[in-house]
Amino acid sequence: MSKAVFIYSSELEKYQYPPEHPFNTIRAKRVLEILESTGLLTGADRSVVAPKPAERVVLKKFHTARYLHALKTAAKGNWDTEALSMGIGSQDCPIFKGLYEYAALATGATIFGADMLLSGKADVAFNPSGGYHHAGPEKAAGFCYINDMALACLILAEQGKRILYLDVDVHHGDGVAYAFYERSDVMTISLHQNPKTLFPGTGLEDEIGTGQGKGYCVNIPLPVGTYDQAYIKIFEAIVLPLIGAYNPDVFVFELGADALAGDPLANLHLTNNVYAEIINHLLSFNKPILATGGGGYNIGNTVRAWALAWSIFCGADTGEDLDHAIGGVLLESTEWQGGFRDRRLAVSQSQQQAVLPAIETTIKYIKENVFPIHGL
Ligand SMILES: [Zn+2]
Repeated sequence: MSKAVFIYSSELEKYQYPPEHPFNTIRAKRVLEILESTGLLTGADRSVVAPKPAERVVLKKFHTARYLHALKTAAKGNWDTEALSMGIGSQDCPIFKGLYEYAALATGATIFGADMLLSGKADVAFNPSGGYHHAGPEKAAGFCYINDMALACLILAEQGKRILYLDVDVHHGDGVAYAFYERSDVMTISLHQNPKTLFPGTGLEDEIGTGQGKGYCVNIPLPVGTYDQAYIKIFEAIVLPLIGAYNPDVFVFELGADALAGDPLANLHLTNNVYAEIINHLLSFNKPILATGGGGYNIGNTVRAWALAWSIFCGADTGEDLDHAIGGVLLESTEWQGGFRDRRLAVSQSQQQAVLPAIETTIKYIKENVFPIHGL
């Protein structure tokens, strides 16, 4: 029986992005509340643990001193053009009260999860307040200030672990991909909406890493309108064989929920059944999993997807509620009954015709250019 920890602190509730900003820190709390009300946080193999803020010395493993200084002073009201040149105080990454403390605590939660896996105290650790995959060493971007994902991978790699970083957020996991672009001890796989149609504009399939890292960065761009069956098709064709060949010691999993149908910032057409299927695949490798939240701007759908993820992490999902569920992405409603799973979405022929050729092209490219590096 695997041990699952849910990482959360009520301290996180003190911080909020500005009200007009799409990133809502309330999501983690709502996941906690739903899981509490459904009894999914209690049991011998499940627990809720509270993190501590990550210390500056840890943050410096990835971020520059200059950047951390600018972030801290900007959060105190001393903001200047040098900070703005690093993205701090931009429209996407505004300055808000307690910004530095929030970012350090959310990052501390992800790092705490990594530590729990390393010590064997958990087999699965889930931090719904994490997943800031766009931040660079000296750059705030895409609602992200401190890159907890890159830091967690660095900390696990320091302990000699081979890491499979999987990113299903609808946006390219650029900050993490480029952090390990020349390394083979962290394989990054990002599935995302085609960057020609979405922020951050990077992550086409021909970005495959360089030097030692060639073949260890995998990008899977997806056309607008990508639906469950197409997504699973490419996941099974590309991601599963690569995981098998790479044989990681640990998974780091960015579970952004903005690829779900109805997300206001993106254009994919998935239901949360895709996430369920992916998590079941990951669990089948029987390796520790550090999972985080990420994007997800339809709050109700995001909260339900993460609640579903947790139920699968701890073996409580039966998959049986699928056909009884009401609401979800189908009705673009935050109300639902009968479980966390979305109902299946119908796929039109024109949608298939728009999506499948692009999926086939990407599968072919990766099979020709990445698979041989791994003996596939
Ligand atoms: Zn995103």
